[in-house]
Amino acid sequence: MTSTTRPTPSMDEITALAKRRGFIFQSSEIYGGVNGVWDYGPLGVELKRNVREAWWRDNVTLRDDVVGVETAILMNTDVWRASGHLENFHDQMVDCKTCKKRWRADHLTSDRCPACGNATLTEPRDFNMMFKTFIGAMEDASSTAYLRPETAQGIFVDFKLIAQTARMKPPFGVAQIGKAFRNEITPGNFTFRSREFEQMELEFFVPGKPDGEDLKWYRYWVDERYDWFMRLGMLPSRLHKHEYEGDELAHYSKATTDLEYDWPFGTSELEGIAHRGVYELTQHVEASGKDLAFFDEESKEKYLPTVIEPSLGVDRALLAFLIDAYEKEAERTVLRFHPRLAPFKVAVFPLVRNKPDIVEVATRIEKSLRPSFRTTLDDSGNVGKRYYRQDEIGTPYCVTVDYESLEQHDVTVRDRDTKEQVRVSIDKLESYLREKLST
Ligand code: ATP
Repeated sequence: MTSTTRPTPSMDEITALAKRRGFIFQSSEIYGGVNGVWDYGPLGVELKRNVREAWWRDNVTLRDDVVGVETAILMNTDVWRASGHLENFHDQMVDCKTCKKRWRADHLTSDRCPACGNATLTEPRDFNMMFKTFIGAMEDASSTAYLRPETAQGIFVDFKLIAQTARMKPPFGVAQIGKAFRNEITPGNFTFRSREFEQMELEFFVPGKPDGEDLKWYRYWVDERYDWFMRLGMLPSRLHKHEYEGDELAHYSKATTDLEYDWPFGTSELEGIAHRGVYELTQHVEASGKDLAFFDEESKEKYLPTVIEPSLGVDRALLAFLIDAYEKEAERTVLRFHPRLAPFKVAVFPLVRNKPDIVEVATRIEKSLRPSFRTTLDDSGNVGKRYYRQDEIGTPYCVTVDYESLEQHDVTVRDRDTKEQVRVSIDKLESYLREKLST
């Protein structure tokens, strides 16, 4: 049985497993890496695709009120001027004059440097977190561009085009998955705070009226986003809703909730759900001089919709799922991934390598399952070792082809969580696995 509690692993256990099994590597490792930048290996890329796909399917494909877009990473610099990112998107930084270490002002608890203990900290200084680059041949102020620090602005500036072309009317949402870049001062805790990462953002546009409609949708999205993690098997005891109060709220926000996860390094944001009012659309109307108001043909009303924004990092979600799934038992380490997230759904083993008939049947079965499930064939070491390897990467089902399979046309199917084994006839194998995996 899948347990409902388990000890939280250490970050060292997670990073070691991630590297050993090819989930996540340091970027350009052979040159010493780049701080805050990561590569996803063969298993990591499968897991990441599954995280994105689970989000897209549940927030776009299965809904009739959300459409998707993919906007560019490079945008007109006026976008960042209007959104406030050029002026406000910074952390206040403090340098230590003795040991030269740099700290985020809001992370300090005293006037002493946490590293060397000296009271030689500078006054806080602003540090803009957007990466700068140049567009075209000239490297001057007029060609300066920024790598987007969030995907949301692409949705806001295209709002009118999207609503018109998709013939959508509030309440409706626009979803986007894509890269974002932030020159974080203190990247760390593995991929939790990266400098290059990916976001899954949903801007849900709601009519301002009737009164309270916006808050109804805000609460809907807080619950829906929480439930999404639960549906994907996250341990309820580790995910919390933290509703902002008073000063915590951004000046334009009526309400914000963070979904906070109990990470090995403490409880911190996994996803934010913010009521953003009409802030961004108003800013873009004023700065561009373009009319972005929505005109309701039926009521003949024209208005700027209110925005509810659930915003989640793909990498941060993946890290949470990885930590959440991890369990160390006496004889094995197991990743208890939900089947939708598991990099491989099924592993097929020929019992022995040197019996061509068995290898042939196993290979045929694995190939025949490929169009339906992400599969792998594993023929090295004894079966116990192979179970160990598949448990450690979270494969829900292992199928073994043995001597009996040749006579009886059946195989052993072993369940990752219960370790139970059953014989299933080869011609029923696909439907058996389909049913088991469709939880
Ligand atoms: P934090 O307080 O952790 O810096 P934030 O409040 O700035 O986060 P948002 O701007 O709300 O984060 O971004 C939305 C989501 O994008 C976050 O909930 C997180 O999942 C993800 N995210 C933000 N910054 C990073 C980062 N540097 N690395 C990885 N994921 C990130």
